[in-house]
Amino acid sequence: MAVCPSNPNVIGVSNPRTGRSDYELFLPDIAEIAAECARLRNNQAAWCAGGLDDRIASLTRFANVLGVHRDAILEALATDTGRWVLTEMELDGLTGYIGARCSHAAAVLDEPVGGNVQKVSFRQQYVPYSLLAVISPWNYPLILSFLDAVPALLAGCSVAIKPSELTPRFIVPVQAALGDVPELDAVVSILGGDGNTGQALIERSDAVVFTGSVATGRKVAKAAAQAFIPAMLELGGKDPAIVLESADLEAAAHSIMRGSIVNCGQACFATERIYVEYAVYDAFVEKLCSLAGEIEINYPDIRQGHIGPFIFSRQAEIVQNQLDDAVEKGAKVMTGGTIENHEGGQWLRPTIIVNVDHGMQIMREETFGPVLPVMRVGSVDEAVSLANDTSYGLSAAVFGAEQDAEAVAARVDAGGIFINDIDLVGEVGLDAEKNAFKCSGLGGSRYGPDGILRFVRKKAIVHRHDKPDEISSLAGINT
Ligand code: NAD
Repeated sequence: MAVCPSNPNVIGVSNPRTGRSDYELFLPDIAEIAAECARLRNNQAAWCAGGLDDRIASLTRFANVLGVHRDAILEALATDTGRWVLTEMELDGLTGYIGARCSHAAAVLDEPVGGNVQKVSFRQQYVPYSLLAVISPWNYPLILSFLDAVPALLAGCSVAIKPSELTPRFIVPVQAALGDVPELDAVVSILGGDGNTGQALIERSDAVVFTGSVATGRKVAKAAAQAFIPAMLELGGKDPAIVLESADLEAAAHSIMRGSIVNCGQACFATERIYVEYAVYDAFVEKLCSLAGEIEINYPDIRQGHIGPFIFSRQAEIVQNQLDDAVEKGAKVMTGGTIENHEGGQWLRPTIIVNVDHGMQIMREETFGPVLPVMRVGSVDEAVSLANDTSYGLSAAVFGAEQDAEAVAARVDAGGIFINDIDLVGEVGLDAEKNAFKCSGLGGSRYGPDGILRFVRKKAIVHRHDKPDEISSLAGINT
């Protein structure tokens, strides 16, 4: 990504498979952002007044028209990200997610009543934020642009989405799909832009959901505090996996390999640290190394292989620097370890490293690459203490006999703990709520009922049915 010297309002966007800039993103100016926010805000009242059934019908039509625009969306998103299979999964995941959220919304948004009809009763009214800003990252550009937008729209908000400037190609075909559902187009906008666009949106919104790095999350929180609006922050992770003596090592190795290499490791929930009990460490590392040999990169055919390229070259640099730091401090690379350049794209095969410790960046900083640092631990207590030795608290995994793993899970300081697999939240995410702990986020659960309810303010309308209290009740006994 580079600003075009002849026009500072245009950004050149790199293609992950070639490293060449082959797309231009036009940055909106402040007047355009303000006009778009005003348009969305003006249309929100009618969207909300139309009722939940109409909103569900519109979103369902949107899910269907995504199918009509499928080829164009896949082509653009695959160019943004350099991978095909996960791109299909992203689009299919989004249509499935819209359907699932729609089918749960009525129960979640049912406004409670309570109290005592003889004395004092209440009705809870849910008042959606008029305009929600959604700022999304480059690693899953489509799904992370809509994961919060869909429940917010169901709640009755209008939504301005600002995807990452590193992966903007998918915007045009998705906007075309939105255009086929005019009443939805009236309350949703996808604005290509950079950090300044994000800041301008925050200033004009009533709430913001931000998915991205901790460093930018702090800036978003600051801007939101200035604007006095809530900031819901979904940030980075350094997810640990703990492998207990009682684990099925074959199954654990499979899950951990998959969880580490998914999207070339460019996933907030990727497994980035592995702690293995002493007795099973050698056998586990052997299984992991043998699995690594079966993993292919998706070069030269984007539709083959398990691992795509790094989405941009800076990410490859970060991973290389962490690997160099680890090796300098005594780590041993068992597999992978060398970033391969093919026709300008950069790939890394599964990189298993041992002899690692918490003095190394690779065990402390978010890596975002297909790297599996494995550490031998002498006890369960040591594993838990190392797993918690991090500023992050997104999620974690424990592998072992159910009761042993459950006991360990209760001690790990993170919002989602997956037993005997990785990243299970998607499978129960409409029911189970999950906060991000520590620096991994702030502001309610993006999953479960709270994933919708965090976009409304709760108003209590309270009725007095019997006689109000007497003024004399305020007076002291002797007056
Ligand atoms: P980033 O913080 O660099 O950028 C994210 C978004 O913020 C982009 O759209 C960017 O244009 C925008 N932005 C940049 N500066 C801004 C500013 N000052 N004000 C407002 N917006 C601004 O993050 P990234 O590199 O795109 O994404 C990777 C990070 O996202 C990783 O840390 C990853 O763990 C995290 N992530 C978290 C989750 C989650 O669910 N917790 C999911 C995916 C990714």
